[in-house]
Amino acid sequence: MISPVLPSYARIPLSFEAGEGSWLIERDGTRYLDMGAGIAVTALGHAHPRLVEALETQARKLWHTSNLYEVPNQTRLAEMLVEATFADTVFFTNSGTEAMECAVKTARRYFHVKGQPERKRMITFSGSFHGRTLAMVSAAKGAKLVDGFGPLLDGFDQVPFGDHDALHAAITDQTAAIILEPVVGEGGIKPVPEQCLKGLRKLCDERGMLLILDEVQSGMGRTGKLFAHEWAGIAPDIMAVAKGIGGGFPLGACLATEEAACGMTAGTHGSTYGGNPLACAIGATVLETILEDGFLDQVSRTAGRLRQGLEGLVAAHGDVFEAVRGEGLMLGLVCKAPNMDVIHACHDQHLLSVPAAENVVRLLPPLTISNDEIDQALARLDRAAAVVSANLKSDGQDV
Ligand SMILES: *Cc1c(COP(=O)(O)O)cnc(C)c1O
Repeated sequence: MISPVLPSYARIPLSFEAGEGSWLIERDGTRYLDMGAGIAVTALGHAHPRLVEALETQARKLWHTSNLYEVPNQTRLAEMLVEATFADTVFFTNSGTEAMECAVKTARRYFHVKGQPERKRMITFSGSFHGRTLAMVSAAKGAKLVDGFGPLLDGFDQVPFGDHDALHAAITDQTAAIILEPVVGEGGIKPVPEQCLKGLRKLCDERGMLLILDEVQSGMGRTGKLFAHEWAGIAPDIMAVAKGIGGGFPLGACLATEEAACGMTAGTHGSTYGGNPLACAIGATVLETILEDGFLDQVSRTAGRLRQGLEGLVAAHGDVFEAVRGEGLMLGLVCKAPNMDVIHACHDQHLLSVPAAENVVRLLPPLTISNDEIDQALARLDRAAAVVSANLKSDGQDV
């Protein structure tokens, strides 16, 4: 018999009743160190006092009005994002995939109003992830995303990740935009080299294409800058944001320059919930906190400590781990042992992490994680790796 909840997830048999900072707590009081942060969502940890305060205060005033009216909290958050980024304007959504939908619609409208209606196609990269709507699975094209869901949407031309020749060959006079994650997340925590991001920006400028960045996972301070593309000193024309922006409250945003957004006039796009007073009160508090003096520097220092420790684990457990990669607190342990074996061994040590493609274990802790908690995470990973290593050896003897 089918479960009351659609069985579309392969869930781990753990459940939590409460959260405190970097910790998730089971009903019996068992505490797990949360190095996954709900897939890079709880950027300020669980039950951050400022977020609880913002939520409670707004909850007593006003939750929702729809976008039929002015929403002052939304205006305020948009102004803060415009002030802090390349963007001139923001559309709010409830999720990352909706932010990407808005990005693609914005780019298509741009060429429509510019009198180039034939320019509608977009180039994407293999191994990317942009969410689960039909358009976004058509864009990312991963086998697991699209199997059985065709016919897919036309208009997305995919090239292998990192293949410059294929990219150049795929550009035609119908190409409107290039879409990519500056640090590939689900696809295995792969930072796109700064030189490539610079090259893509230049290519888009030369060919009159728009650059769309998906910073749903890499944004909101995750890499030690507010957005990952800042490391390369470039800016996109359009960018999707979500995950960390609501600190656990569902919120996403599509940011754009005035030029790129020129087609998005009244009546062209909308959302019932998107950017409601409650969501934006929380989003503004998250952003305020991340933009405070020293916050992002602290993220980089914490990230350095974690990375150095992980390099040590790779050196110590060469049979289990192969390498560390990523940027800031978006780190991946490339495994030699099956990544799920490592993740399950970590559960036994009461440490939570997230799998990614290419046999990677993702570490995406709250940006507020302390040095002591980083050290505890490393000690738990060390013990988990020792168990995995011992199992590998005894399996070897069985053969
Ligand atoms: C998670 C993610 C999405 C999808 O976000 P949802 O909120 O699940 O719709 C899109 N792009 C990237 C890079 C992501 O990591």
